[in-house]
Amino acid sequence: MADPERFDLVVIGGGPGGYVASIRAAQLGMKTACVESRSTLGGTCLNVGCIPSKALLHSSERFATTRDHAEEHGIRIGEVKLDLDRMMGRKREVVDGLTKGIAQLFAKNGVESVPGRGRITGPGLVEVTTEAGAVRSLACDRIVVATGSESAPLAGVEVDEKRIVSSTGALSLETVPEHLVVIGAGVIGLELGSVWRRLGARVTVVEYLDRILPGMDADLARQGQRLLGRQGLEFLLSAAVRGAETRPDGVDLRVEPAAGGEAEALSADVVLVAVGRRPYTEGLGLDELGVTRDDRGFVQVDERFETSVPGIFAIGDCIPGPMLAHKAEEDGVVCAEILAGQSGHVDYDKVPAVVYTAPEIAGVGHTEDTLREAGIEYKAGKVPFLANSRGRAIGETDGFAKVLADARTDRLLGVHVIGPMAGDLLQEAVVALEFGASAEDLARTVHSHPALGETVKEAALAALGRPIHV
Ligand code: NAD
Repeated sequence: MADPERFDLVVIGGGPGGYVASIRAAQLGMKTACVESRSTLGGTCLNVGCIPSKALLHSSERFATTRDHAEEHGIRIGEVKLDLDRMMGRKREVVDGLTKGIAQLFAKNGVESVPGRGRITGPGLVEVTTEAGAVRSLACDRIVVATGSESAPLAGVEVDEKRIVSSTGALSLETVPEHLVVIGAGVIGLELGSVWRRLGARVTVVEYLDRILPGMDADLARQGQRLLGRQGLEFLLSAAVRGAETRPDGVDLRVEPAAGGEAEALSADVVLVAVGRRPYTEGLGLDELGVTRDDRGFVQVDERFETSVPGIFAIGDCIPGPMLAHKAEEDGVVCAEILAGQSGHVDYDKVPAVVYTAPEIAGVGHTEDTLREAGIEYKAGKVPFLANSRGRAIGETDGFAKVLADARTDRLLGVHVIGPMAGDLLQEAVVALEFGASAEDLARTVHSHPALGETVKEAALAALGRPIHV
């Protein structure tokens, strides 16, 4: 075999963690290669995750809004019909455009894209095998593992991506199922459950816990469940799916109360398994090299993102921390900067989380539960969108904003929003938290009128005990 090609850095994985790390490293002068086994760059997020789901969420919401709410605005339309093929076609165009965009960014920044499956054969050595079987050897000073995550399996419920699907299959169903059963009331379950509910499916969400969206503020989860229930999503809480039997035209599920007891049968046309994700590092050779992982399989890294093997670094979903594209991107930037001799860190306590249902559900920082657990005394201000004039004008009055601040110092500790554009509204709170702002800082910041963001300001005023509009 020919001598390996030399790079300063080889990044394995071209998702939001890996492609961003590659670009940042190249900007900092490193000769960088990014190895990706998919035929397109962008990883799960762009190909089968965040982006296609947001395309379908938007299209399905437009469909449902036109069907159900056009008349209230004085807009008369005839029968509203679904063209699922066209909707899926648009989703593919969005994904195509964005994945090609990353290839262009690589070209612009001088990152070498290496197609194929990477395997670390020794310190500073990566062997890449293409789908056709060709092997290419890369030598480098440092390696960054950014191989992401995969859907977690559920015992007794085998995914075939036809009748029993993961998020990947649920993004490409060819027809609207009559009855979709979603296992797991987490982010994926609620987002994709919403898509198919809006397009006409009956949707039942089975959740092991006694609440939806574990980890998010309980107040938002309760309100979210109520609002999604109003849209027709049915919830079966404190229930565990113990087994599935696939028929030619559907699936029979065995559902037990989480606390134990008699099993019940639940039939579905399609079942979506959305019970979480797990790190994906298969075939990389990490175990042979002695890279240590925690008990859940996440690659262990130090504060410099270096694994137990010097020269091998890891970022994104395959290491501990929130499994989110924007966290992976920040890992990627900071890791590349550390490799270039700079310093930095990512504050995982200030990573925003957004659920793109309608309304959106978003939060950053402490929840009331985590504050109580930590024994931190806090004050809360909560204001509904019903009190927001822009919300009233556009007919988006569901939900509220909640500001949590330290009872003694007034320092912002957490901000949570369920309501129209909540994910975007949250961003000012993320900046405020990052800058160590107080509730008063947020309350005294001028917000344009009429704007949805006024509700965040008003919630800060409410935390200070002096709201104006409620
Ligand atoms: P999740 O962890 O958000 O939710 C999984 C849910 O399944 C939990 O509520 C859990 O209690 C439940 N569950 C587990 N086993 C069960 C069982 N046997 N029966 C019934 N319920 C069961 O996981 P997810 O929704 O699969 O998402 C995976 C990851 O992808 C998450 O880390 C998420 O943050 C990320 N993601 C993020 C976004 C976004 O940011 N908008 C969108 C999609 C996915």
